[in-house]
Amino acid sequence: MKCALVTGGSRGIGKAICTELATLGYYILINYRSNEAEANDTLAQVRAKGSDGEILAFDVADRNQISSVLGGWIEKNADKEIEVLVNNAGIKDDGLMMWMKDEQWDQVLGTSLNGFFFVTRLILNNMLLRRYGRIINVVSLSGIKGMAGQVNYSAAKAGVIGSTKALAQEVGRRGITVNAVAPGFIKTDMTGELNEKELQGLIPVKRFGNPEEVAYTVGFLASPRSGYITGEVISVNGGLYT
Ligand code: NAP
Repeated sequence: MKCALVTGGSRGIGKAICTELATLGYYILINYRSNEAEANDTLAQVRAKGSDGEILAFDVADRNQISSVLGGWIEKNADKEIEVLVNNAGIKDDGLMMWMKDEQWDQVLGTSLNGFFFVTRLILNNMLLRRYGRIINVVSLSGIKGMAGQVNYSAAKAGVIGSTKALAQEVGRRGITVNAVAPGFIKTDMTGELNEKELQGLIPVKRFGNPEEVAYTVGFLASPRSGYITGEVISVNGGLYT
C-alpha cells in the first residue's frame, strides 16, 4: 500500500494537502500535535475522497516522540510504503529581534527546521531502498526574501530551503526528488489575525490564496509526473515578491 505522510495535517494547508493526496489514491498518514478533533475531521475528508488513512500524533520538534510514534508505525507496517513525505508542520512566533526570546527562536526553528531533519531522516532509508520517493517541504516567501519581525521564521524556512537543495543532490540518483513549495499569504489560522483588505493591495492578484491552491502544487510534486524536477522552490504567492 502506498502512503503519504503529511506533518501538520490537522489544519490549514496540511489539511488541504491530505485531501488532495487522497484524490491521487494515497493512504494518508495525518500527523498533528494537539488538535485531535481537526485531525479526525481531516481523516473524514480523506475518506470522503474515497481513500483512507490514519492519524499519527507526535510533535515534529521532539525526536523521541518521532522515533517512538513514527518509528513504531514503520516497524509495525512493513506492508505499507511511505512514498510521499510532506514536511508541512510549522509555527510562527513573531517579534522584533531586539526583543525576541530564546524560546521564540528555539520553538520556531525546532518545528520547521529540526522537524524537517528528524522526520525526513527516519523516512529516507526506506525510500533509498525502494529507489523511489517524493519529499516536499512547505517553506515560505519569508524564507526567500526575509520578513521584518520574523528573523526566527525566515531563518527556519531559509534553512529548509538550503536542506532541500542539498538533499536533492544526495538522493537524486536513487529516484527520490526533494522540492519546496513557498506560499505567500494563504487563508489559514496562521494568517487569521492579518488584515487581508489592507495587505491585498501588495499582491498582484489582489487576494490571499486558499490552502487548496498550495495543495494542488504539492499534489503535482508528489506525482510521478514531476520526476525531472528536484531541488526547486516553487512559489505560490499571487506574484508577491517585494
Ligand atoms: P496552521 O493553520 O497554523 O496549521 C499548522 C499545522 O501544523 C497544524 O495542523 C498544527 O497541528 C501543525 N503543527 C504545528 N506545530 C507542530 C508540531 N510541533 N508538530 C506537529 N504538528 C504541528 O498553519 P498553515 O497556515 O496551514 O501553515 C502550514 C505550513 O505552511 C507551515 O509550515 C507554515 O509555516 C507554512 N506557510 C503558511 C503560510 C500562510 O500564509 N498560511 C505562508 C507561508 C508558509 P495542531 O492542529 O495539532 O496544532
